[in-house]
Amino acid sequence: MNPVNNAPRLLMRQLHEIMASADAAEERLNKVVHLVAINMVVEVCSAYFVRGGDVLELFATEGLKSEAVHITKLRVGQGLVGLVASTGVSLNLSDAQSHPKFVYLPETGEEIYKSLMAVPILRVGKVVGVLVVQNKTSRQYSEEEEEALQTVAMVLAELVVGGELLNQQDQNEGIVDKAGIMRFEGLVFAEGFAEGVVVMHEPKLEILDHLSEDYDLQLKRLDRGFERLLRQIDEMMSAEDVIHHGEHREILDVYKLFAHDKGWRTKIETAIEGGLTAEAAVEKIQIENRSKMMKTNDPYLRERLSDLDDLAYRLIRHLMGKAGTAASINLPDNSVVVAQNMGPAELLDYDREKLKAVILQEGSSTSHVAIVARALGIPMVGQLGEGILDLEENVQIIVHGLDGEVYISPPPDILESYRDNIAARAKLLARYDDMRDKPVITKDGVEVELVINGGLAMDIEGMHRTGATGVGLFRTEFQFMISETLPRIHPQAEFYKSIIDAADGKPVTFRTLDIGGDKEVSFLKREKEVNPALGWRAIRIAFDRPALLRYQLRALITAAAGTTLNVMFPMITDVSEFKFAKEILKRELDRHRKNNRPMPKDVKVGTMLEVPSLVWQLDNLLPNVDFISIGSNDLMQFFFASDRENPKLNKRYDTLSPPALTMLQFIVKKCDEYNVPLTLCGEIGGKSIGAMALLAIGYRRLSIAPAAIGPVKMMIRSLDISSLEPLMNDLLSRSDQSIRGQLIQFAKDNDVRIQ
Ligand code: PEP
Ligand code: MG
Repeated sequence: MNPVNNAPRLLMRQLHEIMASADAAEERLNKVVHLVAINMVVEVCSAYFVRGGDVLELFATEGLKSEAVHITKLRVGQGLVGLVASTGVSLNLSDAQSHPKFVYLPETGEEIYKSLMAVPILRVGKVVGVLVVQNKTSRQYSEEEEEALQTVAMVLAELVVGGELLNQQDQNEGIVDKAGIMRFEGLVFAEGFAEGVVVMHEPKLEILDHLSEDYDLQLKRLDRGFERLLRQIDEMMSAEDVIHHGEHREILDVYKLFAHDKGWRTKIETAIEGGLTAEAAVEKIQIENRSKMMKTNDPYLRERLSDLDDLAYRLIRHLMGKAGTAASINLPDNSVVVAQNMGPAELLDYDREKLKAVILQEGSSTSHVAIVARALGIPMVGQLGEGILDLEENVQIIVHGLDGEVYISPPPDILESYRDNIAARAKLLARYDDMRDKPVITKDGVEVELVINGGLAMDIEGMHRTGATGVGLFRTEFQFMISETLPRIHPQAEFYKSIIDAADGKPVTFRTLDIGGDKEVSFLKREKEVNPALGWRAIRIAFDRPALLRYQLRALITAAAGTTLNVMFPMITDVSEFKFAKEILKRELDRHRKNNRPMPKDVKVGTMLEVPSLVWQLDNLLPNVDFISIGSNDLMQFFFASDRENPKLNKRYDTLSPPALTMLQFIVKKCDEYNVPLTLCGEIGGKSIGAMALLAIGYRRLSIAPAAIGPVKMMIRSLDISSLEPLMNDLLSRSDQSIRGQLIQFAKDNDVRIQ
């Protein structure tokens, strides 16, 4: 195919030669600015790069004083160059000095230059630098010239990839401390340590090959990419019609419109003919479109920008053959997976042998992905901030899942102290193991029962290892979440039986399916909800899809033949719901009996108490139940009207506060009055300080993650409840927003081991 215009192609060819040469990165950069200056007939061409998150440093210049290189620095947002860096939008000014943002930098000698054009150097959608050209005369640069400069800027982003021009610290927004060590701080969701290499959960689209002279090949690749993109949109549209009844149809229509847009495709083809690879051509056109659309005042067009961004991103993914998460790639043996957030099913997709830790930009400790991580013993640190998404794949990383710290490319002294920490932790774990058979009893002789929360077969090993006396909550939904199809009765029954057998006579309380909210199952598509946590989930789904519950109960009854079946229902909001669920169970038991199947020896039916309305129905509820289990994770999110998944709210309300603890105390009193066994199976019981508070208000049975049994038991054995009770009574009458501080102080003063 014949090129349309030779000038850009010449620039591309020379650029290719420079970039492909064996020269050092800075040398190549110098040659590129020289090339641009000559090719575009400008007196100045300079390249700035972002260092340490918010400083723009002059790295190369043709035309400005060479002494200014590495000396001239601007803050992102300062001056015209800083403006381009902060907005990601190009500037094209025939009279730069009259722009309100213009600042004069004496060391550069730039006062004599009147016109300026500056474009962002973008990498994976983020500004890493700015490329600038200037002329002495008042010159209006053409649109073609702006596009050419954008292409050069795009190619220059390659220099950042190898870390030769900028080191890892310059490319991230984590804290770089005085010793130059890059570190991120977050919250511990699942304890443990890990040393490994960074693997991005959603692999970044790093275009490594920008230039190609095999136009036919690139055009063919583009054709194939478009084919896949259109197929994907069609699939999304039919899924949309089935699942969401066309709710998002409008957005997909826009996608389709763009994807079929001849103008878009022709521009990409022209960019390929100008010497770019197919993916680089898509990126180039996207940068241009973005820059144009950002300049319009039309709100509709500006809104469409993100659709077009997304579409271009999808096309690039298809061109690079990178769809799906890192779980489907060949993982390194010591992978530390980095994600913005992830669902529990996505975590379960990973090869557990190779996955050493997960770190999240967002997340919360009561989210189900965190619960699954704890169940699997995979260290997880969350709320680490945006910078972690900019980490390089494969760099060395250590995760300190006790302090919530993450170190990138750690120097030897940090590595050493980290390894010391591991050794200390191993000692502590050995002490927990030593306590395995010691009684769970306070210093003043109060017996407490510790049982585990589980959902996977391996949790039962955790129960035996820690000496816990049973399973207080078995989350049955995990099995459903990892299955593509609805698990049939027989395999369900087999699985539950394997759990009962493995528990070896210790009681297991099964909770019926609790899906919805953040717990997605692939075989049951749900409509998008505005408030999924308050929506169609748990028992609410079961009542609308009764076969789901009936089959599960049938499987549980079969599995429990000859033993006691302990079963409870999630998200019961009203006594009538409990009665209805119990009636369904009764019918299944009758059916089983009629069919002469082996029956459970005994059946105990209880409910989760995790919706506040139920607290005010206890007089009606308690006579009907065999036991109660408090799901404090949900109970607290509803009590405080504070989404347990929302990191912004994570620390805003404290369960260790007078209102929450007063409600929990009220439930204990009611259960005592009706002589109904009570367990608390939410995450507060798994923290030593939370468990201490619960004991002080009367709780005697806690169901917690296996990993929490050791620390909580150590706390219990060092506590004198009678000395805490009066303080607790006093604290509960106060109006403090949190009494955590006072409780920690009590523990310190009284040698209570809260770690
Ligand atoms: C709870 O809500 O506290 C609970 C134990 O259930 P889940 O975390 O599975 O919602
Ligand atoms: Mg719950």
